[in-house]
Amino acid sequence: EWLDVEDILNSAVKKVSLKASEKKIDVLLRPSADDPLLYTDGVRLEQILMNLIENAIRYSEPESTVEMYTKVEKHYIHLFIQDFGMGIPDEDAPYIFDRFYRVEKSRSRASGGTGLGLAIVKNLVELLGGDIELKSTSDKGTIFKLSFPIDKKGSVDG
Ligand code: ATP
Ligand code: MG
Repeated sequence: EWLDVEDILNSAVKKVSLKASEKKIDVLLRPSADDPLLYTDGVRLEQILMNLIENAIRYSEPESTVEMYTKVEKHYIHLFIQDFGMGIPDEDAPYIFDRFYRVEKSRSRASGGTGLGLAIVKNLVELLGGDIELKSTSDKGTIFKLSFPIDKKGSVDG
């Protein structure tokens, strides 16, 4: 189906709004004016975004912000999910897309996940013909970058 990127971002944010408001975290959307329509699976793309926003919320301090923005290139659209939280230690970064991998057992126990989120995200992204990378991370926060190919008409392949 043809989908408006801004609509998908909005609907993903709406679905995590309770978790965000519990921690008084603002989720800010800054889509580009020239975002193309995407030919993709909206349910799966929304699931991908929800997982990444949930992580951004879970691994940030209360009252911080999460930002989502897009960049359009000739053949790709990139979606960025940025937080200003604890970041991911360099030595853990190669493993975070692995099943059940979590950084620091103590932190994990306190924040109570299973370590499957990013493994599922990676599978879903690949299913949609896209790519995900940990764009940058430090103790000042983390940016995940999603990339999907677009054709000349502005659709996602596949
Ligand atoms: P769940 O299965 O509920 O998603 P989880 O959030 O622990 O559990 P993943 O989403 O796969 O699992 O993330 C793996 C690990 O990567 C997390 O445990 C956390 O240590 C780290 N991580 C993921 N996203 C972030 C982020 N935005 N900031 C800091 N650390 C993160
Ligand atoms: Mg998670």
